[in-house]
Amino acid sequence: AKSEGGNRYAVADPDSDARAISRHHLTHHLPGALKGCEFFIEYQPLIRMADGRTEGAEALVRWSHPRHGVLGPDRFIPLAEHTGLIVPLGRWVLREAVRQAREWQDEGRGGAEPLRVNVNLSPRQLHHPDLVEETVGVLEEFRVAPEALCLEVTESAMVRADDHELKPLRKLSELGVGIALDDFGTGYSNLASLRRLPAGTLKLDRSFTEGLQHHPADPVDLKIVDGIVSLAHTLGLAVTVEGVETSGQADRLRELGCDSAQGWYYARPGPPEQLPITV
Ligand code: C2E
Ligand code: CA
Ligand code: CA
Ligand code: CA
Repeated sequence: AKSEGGNRYAVADPDSDARAISRHHLTHHLPGALKGCEFFIEYQPLIRMADGRTEGAEALVRWSHPRHGVLGPDRFIPLAEHTGLIVPLGRWVLREAVRQAREWQDEGRGGAEPLRVNVNLSPRQLHHPDLVEETVGVLEEFRVAPEALCLEVTESAMVRADDHELKPLRKLSELGVGIALDDFGTGYSNLASLRRLPAGTLKLDRSFTEGLQHHPADPVDLKIVDGIVSLAHTLGLAVTVEGVETSGQADRLRELGCDSAQGWYYARPGPPEQLPITV
């Protein structure tokens, strides 16, 4: 038993050690990375299911690390959230994404309806006292309509917030900014809590779309998604599905009444020039 334990240790150690060092290293270099403009944004198209029109895109931040290459947000957003750097980083993402929305409009990329940009908001930003003022300020600076911006807040963050803490989101929603409940289905909200949230869109987590990949689709998964879509529509919420990877999934989700979709089947996150896409 002893040698077995020793083996496991020897195998597991270098890996977890490397992770620990790099977490520390990454945390240490985050502020400099922001000053040094090492972050960039990829845009993943959001597709209206009824007609395949590109509604807009979700802004997804990446870190172009001089030594480690391009790092995904899962590597550094939790660290930035922990240290508080997420506030200036999130501020940069918001401003850059709204600037991009203005550029799409100037280039005539959305046609008659301007393309919308979706921006992820972390819990720290949600509770920052200047959220409303800064958001309105950025929209005014770039002369972008509030309707061309949607803020995505995770279900768990929104459900945890009390009515006072939800005031800024409610205010932004009244001004016309879209609010989406991100990763829906992972945060255990109930009907009552859905009603009190200022969201106009529910983003169904990828875990639900996964069950619809197989042919025939899992009948229980179909019923669950069907039920969530009906519930959302009853409450006046639009439904966006994430993680659509196959045409079969897209067909089933359209049949179930989902309003818009996002996923590799349509397009991977990429440069802003890929918008609009043809479906
Ligand atoms: P999220 O908001 O749930 O974003 C969707 C994630 O799913 C993205 O991962 C996207 O690349 C990935 N994805 C899209 N389509 C597919 C698909 O068809 N299949 C699969 N398997 N995955 C797909 P990404 O870019 O790595 O972002 C991870 C998370 O990091 C995001 O999850 C979001 O919570 C967070 N994040 C990204 N950018 C920001 C930001 O600017 N601020 C904050 N606070 N969080 C951000
Ligand atoms: Ca999101
Ligand atoms: Ca999501
Ligand atoms: Ca997700």
